Amino acid sequence: MSVLVSEIFSSIQGEGKLTGVPSWFVRLSGCNLRCTWCDTPYASWNPEGTKYTVADLVQIAKETGLSHAVVTGGEPMIFKELPELCAELRSIGMHITIETAGTVFSENWQSLACDLMSISPKLANSTPAKDDTRDPLGVWHDKHEARRLDLGVLNRLIASFADRQLKFVVAGEQDLVEIRSVLDGMSGLVPSDVMLMPEGTQTPSPGSTDWIVRACLDNGWRYCNRLHIDLFGDRRGT
Ligand code: SF4
Repeated sequence: MSVLVSEIFSSIQGEGKLTGVPSWFVRLSGCNLRCTWCDTPYASWNPEGTKYTVADLVQIAKETGLSHAVVTGGEPMIFKELPELCAELRSIGMHITIETAGTVFSENWQSLACDLMSISPKLANSTPAKDDTRDPLGVWHDKHEARRLDLGVLNRLIASFADRQLKFVVAGEQDLVEIRSVLDGMSGLVPSDVMLMPEGTQTPSPGSTDWIVRACLDNGWRYCNRLHIDLFGDRRGT
């Protein structure tokens, strides 16, 4: 069995609790959503890549000598090869982060080898316009809107993985209302599991994220930087 991979690279983790940790990244290509601001369109709007077997991927990971793996996408949870890939990465001693939008759950995931479940629920700011030129058939506005948030799936993921983070991409203060509504529908989280990350592919200008800092201070949430953007800019393979 092989899986479509859009990129494989070694870098530092730029987001979340493990920011700064040297990591091996594998980006599975394909997604069940179409975020308007998606920063990896080559794994969602136009999935591209090369097919690899799980054995090949694990060998590549092993050769890096790194101890942290980040399985990202696209949406890794839609790939049936995911459990095998994670089990094999764990068998060579790697710590595994899975980065997901949290819209897909399978009973198999309860035994998924995952040390940090990094969930990024998609807010209304992610929905593409009905006349988005990347979507000539005009189907993705409705599909994305119907799929982007599933509180049942989010709660099952939270219940299934002891270490997790909930990263919300925020574009404006109005997003805080939706975040509170999502959190009201969830159980088992502590405020420090919740992270707010400014939308964009450039380092925010000084002062532009003050409202996010205030929201974190008021609620015990965490500010989530994109260190890879600060260090490398908006480039693939970083
Ligand atoms: S869920 Fe992630 S990969 Fe999929 S469209 Fe949204 S940002 Fe892109």
